[in-house]
Amino acid sequence: MNAIAEKVLTPPATLAVIGSGQLGRMFVQAAQRMGYRAGVLSTTEDAPAAQVANWTVIGPPDQLSALRMVSERAEAITVEFENVSAPALRWLAKRRTVRPGWSTVWTSQNRLREKAFLTRFGIPHAPWRPVRTVEELESAGRALGLPLILKTASSGYDGKGQVLVHEAGDLPTAWVGLGNVPCVAEGWVEFAAEVSVVVARGADGQSVAYPVGLNQHERHILDTTVMPAPVGPIVTQDARTTALAVAQALGTVGVLCVEFFLRRDGTLLVNEIAPRPHNSGHLTIEAAVTSQFEQQVRALCGLPLGREELTCPAAMANLLGDVWLAAGGEPRWEAALRGDPGVKVHLYGKRKPAPGRKMGHLTVVDPDPGAALARVRAAREALIR
Ligand code: AMP
Repeated sequence: MNAIAEKVLTPPATLAVIGSGQLGRMFVQAAQRMGYRAGVLSTTEDAPAAQVANWTVIGPPDQLSALRMVSERAEAITVEFENVSAPALRWLAKRRTVRPGWSTVWTSQNRLREKAFLTRFGIPHAPWRPVRTVEELESAGRALGLPLILKTASSGYDGKGQVLVHEAGDLPTAWVGLGNVPCVAEGWVEFAAEVSVVVARGADGQSVAYPVGLNQHERHILDTTVMPAPVGPIVTQDARTTALAVAQALGTVGVLCVEFFLRRDGTLLVNEIAPRPHNSGHLTIEAAVTSQFEQQVRALCGLPLGREELTCPAAMANLLGDVWLAAGGEPRWEAALRGDPGVKVHLYGKRKPAPGRKMGHLTVVDPDPGAALARVRAAREALIR
């Protein structure tokens, strides 16, 4: 370990996050609650994290002058999304503590590298083939069978950059549609459910795994999460053990989320790795002893991690821009909060609602996870009725 990595940062040290969306905002809020100062590198003044940060450097995440300014102001730096350039993180890491490290981000920002990593470490995942040439595309079709999903290797999120292909003859058109860029072809997985596990890993290798979250997606975007997932003790242990193994194999320091497909036979396949707090972990703010964002702060600063267990089961429902569109303007906050005083509202400060845009989320804690889900859904419905 070098001198930078060994240092423990205590409040009121200054931290920074690259990126300024809702994940950066909730990181900043957790840092400030613990007495740290927190800045952001943002492309715009009014971004969700910039609104709450102690300071903002405006610039793209890979611009040297902007990175220099951040490194002059902050003692430790984290990221809120994985599409940060690895060279930029390497440059920063020579000057400041940077967690997660560039190699974790490098692996998880590209599906080809992510799949190769999972294969190398024997971590179960969907069958896949690289697609960088027409020959590879044809051979993927033969090896995986149909249907298959073609996913761009980089820059895909929330279902963007993916096509489901049913006929071998449609493969070339599908690839053209994705811009002929490097892709992974993935065999279609018949899953019973999608689940995820958020893990925090400290600088000393100490790791904790939150309970499993059961995720429901709508149009490829996370819609609701319930924690703990009603999947039984064996699947629970399997998912948490695998997520911890992923974090250890990556050698990451910080928070990481592993998303899985759960098949009917109870087996799990890793779908995706996000080297940062995750939407499915937002309910840890209300429901866990330590939130995923506080763990991000603790890991970044070299502090011991907090306890991860839930104080109560909980459910989260995302508020997409569609809620504003369905409500014909501002949602009916008062009606929803009056209907269930246990509902917690999180809004990210985004001004323009657009379809599919994550504007905020609702959380409900309830001793019965099923009731938590029903209540959080009802509260969201009440916003538009
Ligand atoms: P991803 O962006 O890879 O997480 O994919 C978005 C969503 O598409 C997932 O949450 C699944 O609902 C679906 N999906 C992705 N890959 C597969 C697959 N190989 N088999 C079945 N469904 C998939």
